Amino acid sequence: FDGLSRSLEKAWDSVRRDGKLTAENVKEPMREIRRALLEADVSLPVVRRFVKKVEEAALGERVVKGLSPDQKLVKVVFEELKQLMGGQQAELVQPKYGPAVILMAGLQGTGKTTAAGKLALHLKKKGLKVLLVATDVYRPAAIDQLVTLGSRIEVPVFELGTEVKPPEIARQGLEKAKQEEYDAVIVDTAGRLQIDERLMDELRETKAAVNPTDTLLVVDAMTGQEAAGLVKAFNDAVDITGAVLTKMDGDSLDITGAVLTKMDGDSRGGAALSIKEVSGRPIKFVGTGEKMEALEPFYPERMASRILG
Ligand code: GDP
Repeated sequence: FDGLSRSLEKAWDSVRRDGKLTAENVKEPMREIRRALLEADVSLPVVRRFVKKVEEAALGERVVKGLSPDQKLVKVVFEELKQLMGGQQAELVQPKYGPAVILMAGLQGTGKTTAAGKLALHLKKKGLKVLLVATDVYRPAAIDQLVTLGSRIEVPVFELGTEVKPPEIARQGLEKAKQEEYDAVIVDTAGRLQIDERLMDELRETKAAVNPTDTLLVVDAMTGQEAAGLVKAFNDAVDITGAVLTKMDGDSLDITGAVLTKMDGDSRGGAALSIKEVSGRPIKFVGTGEKMEALEPFYPERMASRILG
């Protein structure tokens, strides 16, 4: 066990001695929390707001019967962590009529195409008729990659090669989906190595062409402080409805679990804690491996438990 609880242990002496939480004796635990979050690569403004909230809640008048002051503080931290990540598990938006249209956005290499395939399989298993649409006309192998994924999971892929512009491909894909009564359309878009105006403009155009029910930003779980800027840029441009956190398996599962645990400066895991705070949008799914099955809904409560340890 090496969670945040453990790092807080050091700070309990004065809290226990006083028998209650006071402005004075919460200072040390607050420092520990702040330090742990910063070392987990959560961006400073997010850390500041979080610590302030925890402190306010901890000193609030609400008396919790049967809890010692240190237990009360841990409970407050757990609740605030959960709230920071959205509180509840967030579902995909249900369309009022016609197919659900899910636009996948994100930088290249984050696992966007893989996540599109995973989501297609996830929805197919729920009994939905799903169409994948390939609009990444810039990365030479991207369309082939999606076609291959599609055939593996037996989900059709709509593509028009690399000569047609992405918004037009997306528009025609949606048209086909409507005519053939699909339940869900997942549009894979082009990513670039960096955020640039052309990427954003094109994403806006593609979005306008299909008016998606969900616009999901795909974020690599290894992203740290940069997550805040990344999420903000995409959200400002295309108003995302949620995020998919990828690569939560292996290393990064530990890493995210260790968001607040590894005190050796192994700084990763910040993204999970920043996304909701920065964009107001929840993480909806997490990717936990390279296999098509490795996609799970994101549960803030479970993540908060894991962080606390
Ligand atoms: P894109 O450029 O954003 O479309 O990225 P890709 O979907 O091509 O994925 C980039 C690499 O990340 C590939 O090697 C994927 O197999 C890998 N990848 C995607 N999602 C995950 C994940 O959840 N866990 C792990 N370990 N690898 C992943």
